[in-house]
Amino acid sequence: EAKRRGKGTSVCFSDEMGERTAADAEIIRDLGQAVEAGQFTLVYQPIVALDDLRMTGVEALIRWNHPTRGLVSPVEFIPLAERSGHIVAIGAWALREASRQAAQWRADFPGAGSLTVGVNVAGRQLRSPGFVDEVAAVLRDTGLPPGLLSIEVTETAVLDDEESAAALLGLRGLGLRLALDDFGTAASSLGLLLTVPVTTLKLDRSFVESITTVGRQAAVANAVSQMANALDFSSVAEGIETDEQRDLIRGLGYKYGQGYLFGRPLPPHEVAARLETIDGVVV
Ligand code: C2E
Ligand code: MG
Ligand code: MG
Ligand code: MG
Repeated sequence: EAKRRGKGTSVCFSDEMGERTAADAEIIRDLGQAVEAGQFTLVYQPIVALDDLRMTGVEALIRWNHPTRGLVSPVEFIPLAERSGHIVAIGAWALREASRQAAQWRADFPGAGSLTVGVNVAGRQLRSPGFVDEVAAVLRDTGLPPGLLSIEVTETAVLDDEESAAALLGLRGLGLRLALDDFGTAASSLGLLLTVPVTTLKLDRSFVESITTVGRQAAVANAVSQMANALDFSSVAEGIETDEQRDLIRGLGYKYGQGYLFGRPLPPHEVAARLETIDGVVV
């Protein structure tokens, strides 16, 4: 079986993968054909301006409809895609599809002229040769204005690494937005904010979750928002589920919010339905 898998795939059976389980190996094998088989879709979660609750953007989130396992969460398969290298092809598909969709919405809906689209990019994808060129090609092919595409990377994906630093500079050179995702969770140094050409901080939802009951979460959320404002970065708080969280987050100076309160990740036709309403106000 291993021999059969080894042939005709680009999966790398290196030592670091030695401890993987049989189930992981199967998923990795299946990931190798999933793009071609059309098994991925994107759902889009609204990002709203907290002052008027207008939908200003969406984040593209990948879904894998596996032929026998059913829906597999990205939390499960993205790490395996990163380990095996399949993330490069999968991520390229997601980037192109999200950009195509955003350009289509702009063409279809007058209210979608400045709608931004966030695309998650893994560290390994960011560092892969030709990534910046691929992004430039996607923008050219889809006609999406670069300023409407936001690349989301985690702090760990860009820590201490010259290749990703160069790629990030290249992306900014194209005029894209650059968001630090899950901000506050990694053991990062704040110096990163001086060297990486960031435009946006996305506060991780763990800080929002218990913001009403744990004083420390509010203090950290406050510090991040102050820092973002002082550095002229945009700030987004993730995982807002209640009115109370929304009010507190807004009070701390966050300009944008994302979370189930404003909308779950939606299939494209449900985003279109929201864009159809006069001005895109969602709540
Ligand atoms: P993320 O980029 O931080 O995305 C936000 C995650 O939080 C999404 O989970 C979203 O559904 C969830 N979420 C949003 N609002 C709420 C809320 O109010 N409450 C709760 N409990 N959860 C909320 P999802 O879609 O399962 O994605 C998980 C992670 O998988 C993403 O975290 C991202 O790191 C990764 N991912 C998703 N799509 C892609 C992709 O196309 N490429 C890459 N490289 N990673 C992706
Ligand atoms: Mg994200
Ligand atoms: Mg996030
Ligand atoms: Mg997160």
